[in-house]
Amino acid sequence: MIELADISKTYRTGSASVEAIKHIDLSIGKGEIFGIIGHSGAGKSTLLRTVNLLEQPTTGTVKVGGVELTGLPAGRLQRERRRIGMIFQHFNLLAMATVRDNIAFPLKLAKLPKAAIRARVDELLQLVGLERHAEMYPAQLSGGQKQRVGIARALASNPDVLLCDEATSALDPQTTNAILSLLLDINKKLGITILLITHEMHVIRSICDRVAVIDGGEIVELGDVVDVFLKP
Ligand code: ADP
Ligand code: ADP
Repeated sequence: MIELADISKTYRTGSASVEAIKHIDLSIGKGEIFGIIGHSGAGKSTLLRTVNLLEQPTTGTVKVGGVELTGLPAGRLQRERRRIGMIFQHFNLLAMATVRDNIAFPLKLAKLPKAAIRARVDELLQLVGLERHAEMYPAQLSGGQKQRVGIARALASNPDVLLCDEATSALDPQTTNAILSLLLDINKKLGITILLITHEMHVIRSICDRVAVIDGGEIVELGDVVDVFLKP
């Protein structure tokens, strides 16, 4: 579902340059929950953001669902991105919009008819357990509830892939577990492929099938979670 081949990214700021990720190859199957773990500055976020081309890699190719995204013209890329949802550490909700309108946002952009948007948002509210919060604003919600809105918005266009950027790092342990079990539930129910980055071992152990350990922009270990982390 996700194929990264020889991905590198060099950031240039003035005369300085940082090679954030170096020649990464990674192949993630349909329906997998794949985790990338590493210290701060290891290159996790850069790698994740190349998958939907929020970050343009300096070298290499990105394929999602068999379609090569690198090199697509802007309009076509925008359409392909609807197959890739994303959630964030700090939720990135629109403060001035209700829960319903936050979730509806990508559907409005895609110019769906109003009635279809309403029905789809109702479905999503139910999926994430926020039926009673539809008319509230983000400031009225707990962290866990905000992330539920983020998840519903990410799933609105029925994507094949969900990218999770430190999605539980701003949450307390109990809420983290609730969000992780929601992600697992969604993975089982919808067959969606999940790629997450985290600095927390617990997140990897609790829901990932496979894991890559990234350090200095390179994958230093990769395998089934049980083999990578539970070795004697
Ligand atoms: P992680 O997500 O593992 O913390 P990042 O991908 O954010 O790692 O960063 C990897 C490296 O790239 C770090 O050295 C970081 O300082 C650098 N970096 C990240 N984003 C930028 C940017 N926009 N401009 C310059 N350097 C960056
Ligand atoms: P909080 O930050 O308030 O702890 P949570 O993420 O734990 O937020 O969830 C908010 C509420 O939704 C909780 O009361 C929880 O019991 C409920 N809830 C959790 N998962 C589901 C679900 N899949 N469907 C419906 N309700 C749920």
